Amino acid sequence: MHGTRTRYGSEPLIGQPLHSIRDAPSLGRMVSRSRERTTPTENRAITVNPMHTDIALPSGVILGAIFVGIAYALPRYTRQILVVGLVLAALAYVHFSVEANEGPLWLATELAGVAVYGTIAARGLRGSLWWLVAGWALHPVWDIALHYAGPGRAFAPDWYTIPCLGWDLVVAGVIAYYIVFSRWVAGTSNFAVPRPAR
Ligand SMILES: [Zn+2]
Repeated sequence: MHGTRTRYGSEPLIGQPLHSIRDAPSLGRMVSRSRERTTPTENRAITVNPMHTDIALPSGVILGAIFVGIAYALPRYTRQILVVGLVLAALAYVHFSVEANEGPLWLATELAGVAVYGTIAARGLRGSLWWLVAGWALHPVWDIALHYAGPGRAFAPDWYTIPCLGWDLVVAGVIAYYIVFSRWVAGTSNFAVPRPAR
């Protein structure tokens, strides 16, 4: 298998001692965490399988496609499913921060994230579906800028941040596709997905 891109460039990781890959963005951290729990010797050389980082993004894309496929397969609930999904994606970080005892600042930050994405999503519940496109398309800011590359990396697991990126983008893309496609087919901006009764 090929390696994972690290801050030192793209290098194969198999066979390298753990300490040399500890700074690799995702793999080194995951491996070092799990290994530190089980091996008492700090500098023990281990071999790792980078497969799980290679599949993280595609896994998110596939799972996101399944999610958005289910949403559009249930036209009565499409909007609700897309709204609830985005709120849950944001709530996950509240869970991670609480689980890691990150303190009130991070809890407030994550709750603010739920409020921001929840508000955007709620606009899409009865308003334009572009709100849902925007909400899903912007969630990678939370995943990557704040939690994968940013300070939230201390507690947000890579198994969530990276797949969530793929998930978000495919969902946003499919919603946008259906908006544009339905306009093209029906000549209307009112997409077939009904709005919930007030
Ligand atoms: Zn996300």
